[in-house]
Amino acid sequence: MEQNNRSEKKKIFWIGFSLYNWAFILLFVSMFIFINENFRWFIIVPTFVVIFLISFILNQRLNKEIENTRSTEKALKHSEELFRGIFNNAAAGIALLDKEGYYQHVNLTLCRMLGYTEEELKAMKFQDITHPNDLEKSICLCAGMWEGTYPWINSEKRYICKNGNILWAEINMSAIRGDDHEITDIIVVVLDITVRKNMEQELILQATTDFLTGVDNRLAFMHKGQEEFSRAQRYGRDLTLLLLDVDHFKCVNDIYGHLIGDRVLRDVVRACKSALRESDILARIGGEEFAVILLESQKDTAYQVALRIQQKVKEVIVESGNNEVQVTVSIGIGMLRDEDTHMDDIFKRADDALYKAKNSGRDRIVLENSME
Ligand code: GH3
Ligand code: MG
Ligand code: MG
Repeated sequence: MEQNNRSEKKKIFWIGFSLYNWAFILLFVSMFIFINENFRWFIIVPTFVVIFLISFILNQRLNKEIENTRSTEKALKHSEELFRGIFNNAAAGIALLDKEGYYQHVNLTLCRMLGYTEEELKAMKFQDITHPNDLEKSICLCAGMWEGTYPWINSEKRYICKNGNILWAEINMSAIRGDDHEITDIIVVVLDITVRKNMEQELILQATTDFLTGVDNRLAFMHKGQEEFSRAQRYGRDLTLLLLDVDHFKCVNDIYGHLIGDRVLRDVVRACKSALRESDILARIGGEEFAVILLESQKDTAYQVALRIQQKVKEVIVESGNNEVQVTVSIGIGMLRDEDTHMDDIFKRADDALYKAKNSGRDRIVLENSME
């Protein structure tokens, strides 16, 4: 805009200057003619008229140009204001990133979402406010954008807001290219999906957790079990599976009622947890049946853990009126073999072992393929 003003001033100066020259020439010519006392009006008057016409036309053109420049400036200003309005009031957060990850431009929506001012965000890189668990992926995707591997990317990530809250966002990144087709900036459009994500996680939790005991349910067990099975096979690690069944549990329900039965189940889970490590996976896979996956554990360790569980469950006492309810568990143990192709293979052997434990009198621990 400033440049336009300057060029306009320059134009006015040069046109004015040339008209001034013309006037000067006319003056000299008239003076010359007067001095020679040889006034010829038929030369002077048309010359004057021509100069007047030229200056008039030039003036008209100049006015038109000035008017054009002014209306272009007005249109430019209007479009700038419009762009700023759209940029700042868009429902999505928008940011422009440079190669180092610094925010070059951020809109007000993004500032509001993250709780930072425009200046604060512009002093930061996206890495500074990305959740640590999503950092590696974010850096990788951004590098891919700059290398031109992807024309655009849709992804989900977590930001850390100024107040420490986590903001789940769906982000869309696209590259902006200059005249030479080199990428100059990355434009990031950010949508707040925290509510949807929290609901999603709540639903996943409900779908994978046993509502009575709070441990994983059968669905989660199948999923995690297969995952751990594949990992163990890939890295040649040991893995054992314990299947537990509460003995004569039907009698507990029949004698003391379902509510007492439920309390017994909850306390059995508590007892199992106290006998396990954080990394072990405990799940309720049936009414009074439980499964435990022991990571990186061999037969002897698994047997020791089973003994500990057996003992801890025996210590469970649930009061029902004047009575004390106690239960025992039978345990079957299965171990990962090289030839196994699925978690079901270990499950089958552990189940057979549990069957043997039941048949040999209950309150027993049986290892797969043992003669007990
Ligand atoms: P076994 O020693 O052969 O395992 O005998 P059991 O009585 O434990 O086995 P059975 O399969 O005959 O009975 C299991 C009982 O577990 C029957 C069912 O009512 C009870 N049960 C299953 N789920 C729940 C539950 O969520 N709460 C309560 N209170 N009882 C449950
Ligand atoms: Mg059972
Ligand atoms: Mg039972």
